Amino acid sequence: MPTINPDRLLRDLRELATFGAYKTGVHRPSLSAEDVAARHWFAERLSEAGLDARIDGIGNVIGYSRAQGPKMLIGSHIESQNYAGWLDGPLGIVYGLETARAFREDPAAAGLGVDVAAWFDEEGHFGSFLGSRSFVGLLSEEDIDRARNRYDNTPLREALERAGFAGRPRETVRPERYCGYFEAHIEQGDTLDSTGLKIGVVTAIVAIWQYRIIVEGEQNHAGTTSMARRRDAGLALVRLLSAIDRRFPELAGPRSVWTTGRITLDPGAPSIIPGRAEALFQFRDADTAVLERLHAELFRLVEEANTTGRCTLSVEVMSQSIPALMDEAFQQAIEAAAARHCPGRAMRMPSGAGHDAQYLARRMPAAMLFVPSIGGISHHWTENTSDEDIVLGCQVFCDAVAHALRARPPA
Ligand SMILES: [Zn+2]
Repeated sequence: MPTINPDRLLRDLRELATFGAYKTGVHRPSLSAEDVAARHWFAERLSEAGLDARIDGIGNVIGYSRAQGPKMLIGSHIESQNYAGWLDGPLGIVYGLETARAFREDPAAAGLGVDVAAWFDEEGHFGSFLGSRSFVGLLSEEDIDRARNRYDNTPLREALERAGFAGRPRETVRPERYCGYFEAHIEQGDTLDSTGLKIGVVTAIVAIWQYRIIVEGEQNHAGTTSMARRRDAGLALVRLLSAIDRRFPELAGPRSVWTTGRITLDPGAPSIIPGRAEALFQFRDADTAVLERLHAELFRLVEEANTTGRCTLSVEVMSQSIPALMDEAFQQAIEAAAARHCPGRAMRMPSGAGHDAQYLARRMPAAMLFVPSIGGISHHWTENTSDEDIVLGCQVFCDAVAHALRARPPA
């Protein structure tokens, strides 16, 4: 069984965290100077590991194995959220790098290959999963033309030009090359940490269904309009959201979550009854049947509010993604590897957050492994995982990839 080198793994993770270091975390937005430097650093590490490394026209860093036999694709992302943690993304790509090195050093793994990728902009500074979508053929040139940095409005084309990546070809998947895709990530929740478990075996990546709820009332004077005749759009919206929160638990799955991310009242002044109100609302689940139940109930509650209240409510679908199911045989490979290295310390769980694996899963069997996040904290500079858990997770990951590769020839 290929064996990872714990010191080398931790050294590389710590060195990567010096690019854009911020307190104990990092600030490394996509295509910032620190991010570009980190991509070059990672490409060099992949080359040293014997892979053919390149950075493509959208900033994906990919190292291709020269092994003759079946190959597994391993990836995650290298950029960070703003002023956030050091492991969200880097953990997965450095696990890939270390797995490639462990395979190369183990004569028994000769012929088994891993390609390692650091996908561009999983964190969404310019768009949504641009690198992995580009790789699987779901990103057009027009999409790139339109993409702009959400904080400073810089066009993606301009940022790619400045980084020196413009004009390079974009790498695209050759599915016949691969047995599948593996991605490791910190859990970002507290399920593993609070139960003392070490390995999360991801069953599915949840779908996110997003809506805009609009309420039309009547803008009027807050002092002279009686309660009996006013049409308060704000109040109608809050009542609807409250009804959703009462009703959804009866229809939801055990891990369904729903969120009102923004409420706006128009005109939004202390002495004016809002004439219009709007909410951005979303729910997430890995089960399409649950998503459809919640969707139908949302529309029913809006209908009910229209027949019983004095305002006019409507709801628009903004986006409905599809849950990405992880490959069953790969899940078993991770469980078996965990049983060898930390018996009784693994559990299956869905991922409530989106990951690049959801796009790779559209083109090949995919799997994800989670390691504990201390206190369940992520998207914050205090995000952390113990060295012991980082090392254990990498050995389980490497072992699972080796078994999965041996068990299944490429498509
Ligand atoms: Zn991430």
